[in-house]
Amino acid sequence: MKVAFYDAKPYDRPGFDRYAQDAGLEIKYFDTHLNEDTVSLAAGAECVCVFVNDVVNAQVVDALYDLGVRMVALRCAGFNNVDTRACYGKLHVFRVPAYSPYAVAEHAMAMLLTINRRIHKAYNRTREFNFSLNGFAGFDLHGKTVGVIGTGKIGKVFANICKGFEMRVLAYDKFPDPSTGLEYVSLEELFSASDVISLHCPLTDETHHIIDEEAIHRMKKGVTILNTSRGALIDTEALIEGIKEKKVGAACLDVYDEEADLFYEDFSGHIVQDDKLVRLIAMPNVIVTSHQAFLTNEALDSIAHTTVENIRKFFAGIPSPETEVCYHCGNQDACRKDRDEKCF
Ligand code: NAD
Repeated sequence: MKVAFYDAKPYDRPGFDRYAQDAGLEIKYFDTHLNEDTVSLAAGAECVCVFVNDVVNAQVVDALYDLGVRMVALRCAGFNNVDTRACYGKLHVFRVPAYSPYAVAEHAMAMLLTINRRIHKAYNRTREFNFSLNGFAGFDLHGKTVGVIGTGKIGKVFANICKGFEMRVLAYDKFPDPSTGLEYVSLEELFSASDVISLHCPLTDETHHIIDEEAIHRMKKGVTILNTSRGALIDTEALIEGIKEKKVGAACLDVYDEEADLFYEDFSGHIVQDDKLVRLIAMPNVIVTSHQAFLTNEALDSIAHTTVENIRKFFAGIPSPETEVCYHCGNQDACRKDRDEKCF
């Protein structure tokens, strides 16, 4: 089984090489993203392995199918970059639904602590032997209210971490889970009552720009917004306006709407053309990390293991309904996934 592995990074290879050898996979690594221009690199492969910023649109799907590719193995949880309707009947799409929710939730808390206590600024000051504390006053997390939007695997872990700081946790989810014991409220109430808001829902048509001008208008003055989920959950222009008007006190962004052409690459010697991102990075109360919340050794190992298992099972003809995406094929009454079968 031959796999074309796009957007390969040095930290991907050790885990994948180890598990691939045992499974008899032959992986060809490419540094480039998958898109219309690079799809031909997959010639000779039966599977493409892709990450968050690879493009699997209808044009790419058709080109992959014509090349003989039959499987897309996402090495991540989110799949908003894949046109699953275009894939239906042609390419089977598998993902890694869970690897380490702790990695992402802990990163969200790391960003909150950093921005609140100005650790990023303090680190630079003391390196210059500047021991002044001016401008560094933060706030106690203890007793503050945090609003968690999306209480799935990551949101639940983040809520628990916040409880460890003795914060009051409010939650909003389209499908509330009573077993969490969390206090679910409406989105409006969460916006108006929270000192900190953290996004942990997937990017869908419904959640696109869930934080927009109107949402920011409803928030407390000085609110801190955390986004470790997907960039397009936030209307970036509305966020920038909110920060300029001092309505938003701070923002921690591990993801960014237009990240695809920038994140994971070194642009330190270039003039970055994205004015909104440059503006955000220039703001003292904004921290941007490069979609790194998942990046722990435990998560990398788990991602490699599950992805290789997905590929091995697919080519062995073993259904894996728990890791195959839903194509929303319309056959709800006769869903094959429910019968533990392949979707097509
Ligand atoms: P999950 O599926 O376990 O949880 C998602 C939760 O969002 C569910 O409880 C679901 O009911 C809820 N939800 C769905 N639609 C909603 C809506 N319209 N409004 C409010 N809530 C809604 O997913 P997870 O593993 O917790 O991951 C959450 C997100 O984190 C992923 O979708 C992905 O985008 C992101 N993520 C980011 C990184 C990173 O490195 N930054 C890594 C992994 C995942």
